[in-house]
Amino acid sequence: MIRGPLEYNRLASRDVVAGALKYKNLCGRMEEVSETETTPVKLGVIGGSGVYQMDGVEIVGEHEIETPFGPPSDGLVETRVGERTVFFLPRHGKGHRLLPSEVPYRANVHAMKSAGVTHLLAVSAVGIMKEHIRPGDMVTPDQIFDRTKGIRPSTFFGDGVAGHVSLADPFCDELRQFLAEAARSCSATVHEGGTYVCMEGPQFSTRAESHFYRNAVDASVIGMTAIPEAKLAREAEMCYAMLAMGTDYDCWHETEEDVSVEAVIAILRANAEMANRVVQVAAGLLPEVSSCACLSAARFATITSPEAISAKAKARLRLLYGKYWD
Ligand SMILES: [Zn+2]
Repeated sequence: MIRGPLEYNRLASRDVVAGALKYKNLCGRMEEVSETETTPVKLGVIGGSGVYQMDGVEIVGEHEIETPFGPPSDGLVETRVGERTVFFLPRHGKGHRLLPSEVPYRANVHAMKSAGVTHLLAVSAVGIMKEHIRPGDMVTPDQIFDRTKGIRPSTFFGDGVAGHVSLADPFCDELRQFLAEAARSCSATVHEGGTYVCMEGPQFSTRAESHFYRNAVDASVIGMTAIPEAKLAREAEMCYAMLAMGTDYDCWHETEEDVSVEAVIAILRANAEMANRVVQVAAGLLPEVSSCACLSAARFATITSPEAISAKAKARLRLLYGKYWD
């Protein structure tokens, strides 16, 4: 486990000097961190199944963005929601062309980062794993159980640069709370917290799997996209939270019909309308600046010595970590 030594190293070398925190990073350099460091908040929204655009907002323009990790799922749509600029990206592309396993997650998160997004809000359709959550309810999960198959690129590191970030709490608590408050003010039924199982798909669960997730994982919801999106948002130092929209009971529910695509699509439409309202209210609730720990989550992530990082790798990761390496 690398997380233990990293945390230990960070704490052991921490020293408070005249209102600032000084850290010795893993390469031995001293870094100074202001305790009151704040960042202007910019909101990005990734829309999932059924949410391919934001309705009722001013569209400023659409940006075609290339990233070192290829093109994102679609153009990045710049909108105005009240006084706030909000960037929107349909996760599966317009017209829903991409399977969960095919979504270019790294390019999507990198594109948001290049637009200056600090707070990333994921809107996702999910299967329901608990009796008391009803189709049409909203959930703001606080944990993820990864059941993807390792076929999705899930880190910005690699190719000559080793790095590790903590993922103990994959969702930002602050952003989750704003999201839940927004959902309540839209009169949505919202369930705060709970575990999201991320499966590979594209098929839904077998009955044996569904019972396993309920009994062994105590899952609240199941979906196909939070991994690697949450991992990459953390590596990109963004606050990340999810508005999970319950569409159907997964096949564990004995008295409900098994999941049918038709039933899911019908409720997706109603959920999309609610999600659109919740996101716009959330945009109004967010503060102007934030000092959330997510925004510096990779400050001590890089293990590789800066002098050992190739010029090519530095160029590829400049947007994300250049400030720490230069
Ligand atoms: Zn945060």
